[in-house]
Amino acid sequence: MADLTGARGLVVGVANKRSLAWAIAKAADAAGARLTLSYATDRFEKNARALAGTLRQPTRLVQCDVTRDDEVAALTAETDSHLDGLDFLVHAVAFATREAIAEPFVRTKRGDFAQSLDISAYSLVVLARAAAPLMERRGGGSILTLSYLGSERVFPHYNVMGVAKAALEANVRYLASDLGPANIRVNALSAGPIKTLAASGIRGFSRILDHYRERAPLGRTVDADEVAAAALFLLGPGARGITGEVLRVDGGYHVTGM
Ligand code: NAD
Repeated sequence: MADLTGARGLVVGVANKRSLAWAIAKAADAAGARLTLSYATDRFEKNARALAGTLRQPTRLVQCDVTRDDEVAALTAETDSHLDGLDFLVHAVAFATREAIAEPFVRTKRGDFAQSLDISAYSLVVLARAAAPLMERRGGGSILTLSYLGSERVFPHYNVMGVAKAALEANVRYLASDLGPANIRVNALSAGPIKTLAASGIRGFSRILDHYRERAPLGRTVDADEVAAAALFLLGPGARGITGEVLRVDGGYHVTGM
């Protein structure tokens, strides 16, 4: 595991103990980082508070709906007051209405499309913009988001989320270009399918898991700890030369043809 001793990090997207954000937060805490965690709404506060209480380092917990500019500004201000600058940001946020991912993609409604792209893709831009000044004070930083192969290939019922992930991965490249001169790296980790709250909204998810078991070179998908290990690499000094990258952590599934 990467050594993040003394690093200051913000992890956005903790809903429960299965959240990839939580797996990454836990690993970063164990690697020596001090953290601010954020969760979306009241509904997740109890879970997030219980989880944050188990970390080794004192952790600030902030509610933030990423569609609200005022809440993003407040999150950044709270983070700065807790950590005094920032070395890394983890963006682990996505949303699509059940209807949008249940219906055939061609029926996606304008409002559902806009909402999904706002929460799942634009939020990286607004968070990166807010976090950049805190990182600049530390001489640079690392921003990481979580994507899925549905950005470039069609998976049943992934639908508008696939389009949002395509936008998210393009965001990574444009942000990497803008923020590189400030020594801020921006990367995505494209994870294999893992049963989480977000995944439970996707009909036929267990079929996708079966398919990875049959087809992925490693004969399986990955687990949250494997995602966290790769995330720590991208966040840490070992990846200091890497930016604008989408790293697949999927048991090799993405290389398969048939
Ligand atoms: P999760 O449900 O635990 O996390 C999704 C998070 O997004 C939740 O914390 C939710 O509250 C948050 N969120 C939704 N709307 C929000 C809003 N308006 N403001 C702030 N937060 C909001 O599920 P997860 O699987 O851990 O998802 C984390 C990331 O990983 C997502 O981007 C997801 O697409 C990605 N991912 C997941 C998988 C998988 O199979 N689970 C695979 C690849 C990528």
